[in-house]
This record gives sequence, structure tokens and C-alpha cells, in this order.
Amino acid sequence: MDLILFGPPGAGKGTQAKVLQDERGLIQLSTGDMLRAAAAAGTELGRKSKAVMDRGDLVPDELVIGIIAERLEKPDCAKGVIFDGFPRTVAQAKALDAMLAGRGRKIDAVIELKVDDEAMVGRMESRVRENPGAARADDNPETLRKRLKVYHQNTAPLLDFYRDQGKLVTIDGMAPITDVSATVRRVVGQVGQPA
Ligand code: AMP
Repeated sequence: MDLILFGPPGAGKGTQAKVLQDERGLIQLSTGDMLRAAAAAGTELGRKSKAVMDRGDLVPDELVIGIIAERLEKPDCAKGVIFDGFPRTVAQAKALDAMLAGRGRKIDAVIELKVDDEAMVGRMESRVRENPGAARADDNPETLRKRLKVYHQNTAPLLDFYRDQGKLVTIDGMAPITDVSATVRRVVGQVGQPA
């Protein structure tokens, strides 16, 4: 089963992806985590991406498509993947469909965690207040606003792309985390079942 967890920065995609990884044995693929690891390791990819990430812009499509293509080759991805933070553009979504089709696979469902932008900024502001200095370089209220803008401009159009494919399921990401997890579990349990 191949799934996408979809939503703006701060919506809780990573948290829910980990729940599914633990419970379903699917592999969480977070392009953000992969890019941060590349930046920390000082690889060419990391050097190319770091400044773009720190200012909240999108890393070029060909770079992120490349890291996903490479990662999907690994045997642990054979059982299924939860994409977290990818795709973020229509070009990435089309490339992903082609990559999966080449393996006889397809995206089974896209789970959108719908949240309120201002609440995301508010949560970030309190995290920074409680724990100044602990955050990622792109974890501050100003950069978050930029990332939310980029989300609405470049990534939100993908909602129509997947709605047209009949794959989009939208759930309330503002609910308590355990409720969101319960809903995600229920949705995933229904994937592939006759309606
Ligand atoms: P995330 O941890 O998913 O919020 O990603 C952190 C940053 O990594 C983003 O703000 C982008 O700069 C970059 N990034 C992660 N995934 C992608 C992607 N699929 N396309 C372009 N840039 C990405």
C-alpha cells in the first residue's frame, strides 16, 4: 500500500506517518528529513538545498524527485511507503505516479490533514517561547509564514490533482493527536476495501 500524508508544515504529517510505519510496517519517506540529513552530512545535495530550505522555499523538483527515485529502489520500500512532505508540486506528483507505475504500483490514498494556518503559527510561537534556540533553522514564525504561503501557492493545487483521481480523503488535523491517529487508522483500514 502506498499512501501520501498531505498538509501544510506543522500539520502533524510526520507524527501520523510514524504511527502508520509502526503499525503497518510501511516505510515513512520524508523528503524534509532526507534533505536535512544531506545538509548535515555536507553532501552536494545538502549544500545545494540548505539555503533554500532555511528560507522556506522549495528545493528544485529534479533534486527531490532524484532522492525519492533512489530511495524507492531499496528493498525495504517494496511493501509500501508513506510519503510525508512529498510530492509538493504537480511535477513531483506526476513523476511519482510514473515511478510507481514502473513498479506496478500506485498511490492508494492521499490523506489530507486540514489545519488552520494561524493556529500553526501560534503553536510555533509558543514552541519558540518555551524553548528558544532549540529549533531548526526554518522553525521560526517568519519562515513558517513563508512556508505556508509556498504551500498554498505550489502544493495545495495538488489537492485537485488527487481529488480528480478519487484518492483524496480530508480529515480534521486540528483534533487531538490521538483522535487524528484513530481517524487515519480507520481511513487506511478502508483503503482497498469495496465501498
Ligand atoms: P519539511 O520537513 O517536509 O517541512 O521540509 C522542510 C523543507 O525541505 C521545505 O521547506 C523545503 O525547503 C524542503 N523540502 C522538503 N520536501 C520537499 C519537496 N517535496 N519539494 C521541495 N522542497 C522540499
